[in-house]
Amino acid sequence: MKVAYYDKKMETLDRDKLEKLQLKRLRATVDKALEIEFYHKRLSKIGILSGNDICSLSDIKMIPYTTKEDLQSGYPESFLAVPGDKVVRLHTSSGTMGTSTVIYHTAGDIDSWSALTARSMFAAGARNIDVFQNINAYGLFTGGLGMHYGAELLGMTVIPSGAGHSIKQIHLMRDFKTTIVHATPGYLLHLYGLMQDLMISPAELSLRKAFLGAEPYCENTRDKIEKLLQIEAYNSYGLTEMNGPGVAFECMERNGMHVWEDAYFMETIDPDTLKSVEDGQEGELVFTTLTREATPLLRYRTRDLASIYTDSCECGRTHRRISRIKGRTDDMFIINGINVYPSQIEAVIMKHSEVGTNYRVYIEKKGALDKVIIRIELFKGAVEKYTQDELDRLKQRLTKELTDAIIVNPTIEFWEAGSLPSYGSKALRVIDDRNELLW
Ligand code: AMP
Ligand code: ZN
Repeated sequence: MKVAYYDKKMETLDRDKLEKLQLKRLRATVDKALEIEFYHKRLSKIGILSGNDICSLSDIKMIPYTTKEDLQSGYPESFLAVPGDKVVRLHTSSGTMGTSTVIYHTAGDIDSWSALTARSMFAAGARNIDVFQNINAYGLFTGGLGMHYGAELLGMTVIPSGAGHSIKQIHLMRDFKTTIVHATPGYLLHLYGLMQDLMISPAELSLRKAFLGAEPYCENTRDKIEKLLQIEAYNSYGLTEMNGPGVAFECMERNGMHVWEDAYFMETIDPDTLKSVEDGQEGELVFTTLTREATPLLRYRTRDLASIYTDSCECGRTHRRISRIKGRTDDMFIINGINVYPSQIEAVIMKHSEVGTNYRVYIEKKGALDKVIIRIELFKGAVEKYTQDELDRLKQRLTKELTDAIIVNPTIEFWEAGSLPSYGSKALRVIDDRNELLW
């Protein structure tokens, strides 16, 4: 099969040349990072005062890792490396503002990012004749705007349908002959269920591909989606700190995701020892931005576990591929594409004096979508002290505050003090019952 490329020269660059380009870009990135006080302090401590102090790519190992906590402690502006008049947009990772990480973009950053999402979608077979329905939240979340700009650059007809409004999504798909959708796997399965209720068969649609990401899923889920909707599904990986979508994407071989190594320097490390692991072994992905101007990040620990494939891809692209994301090294979980940390839930619950010391979060599948149930122990004697009305009002308040905090609408259950399992050591706070749909 003859392979077409969006940017043939860059996508098929010899590894030698690609690494030379990475070194050049790494040096420039270090120069930009030195504009940020946090990096200036860190880098000067190890004798790096300019990008020229990086002699080879392996010198990157001298630089300490950047963590989400580092970015959080720099909220809102400490990781801005350019004057404010150069910034055209910012995004934050999903989660509450208190725990957000902020990434700024210059016009050049938006152009580079759009070129990467365009390149990704082209590699997965998208062409300018396609009608692209972007079923992803527009706003601070990167999935909406990130793919939107790339899709327009590629020349597709974009339907910026955003998140939610399920019935409308199906009507749009049918009426405008959508050929490609971008969605979370769970939401697409949910739409399929709804199509059945509406008696709309996939055969009536023009859909041929789906780009699926933002949450972990397994090959079985992909197969299911492909069979039910009679389409090809492609895995798409990204994170706000590395722009968003367009970090890694499957080509038409659909056998691992190419990481665009002209824009991201990739490492895999053992999350305990923090030492590099061999290609082919599972480790935590660590990325350094190579082109970003406004918020350059050095050795950012993603907390995502994956392995780097060692074989080359039939498509001829020289950029290495990674496996599916196998899990996380922290306690973050993803509900319908939204990142949630137990600590966010805890912060809301524990503000209320009626609440005791223990809680548990249960995640289930309801149809194709995730559902969250939070069981909260009341303090001892609360059941006698408060009327049912007061407890109902508390439940309503907690539901609203938790929905605001985690952008997911949970079901709250009150339990009597001492009735939830307790632990001598680290509490098992989150019970994830969706496992049959994961890896
Ligand atoms: P955000 O920064 O809010 O877009 O969230 C990024 C996180 O979503 C990543 O660090 C991953 O944990 C998760 N994620 C994104 N894409 C995928 C994917 N294709 N498979 C599994 N997890 C993903
Ligand atoms: Zn390939």
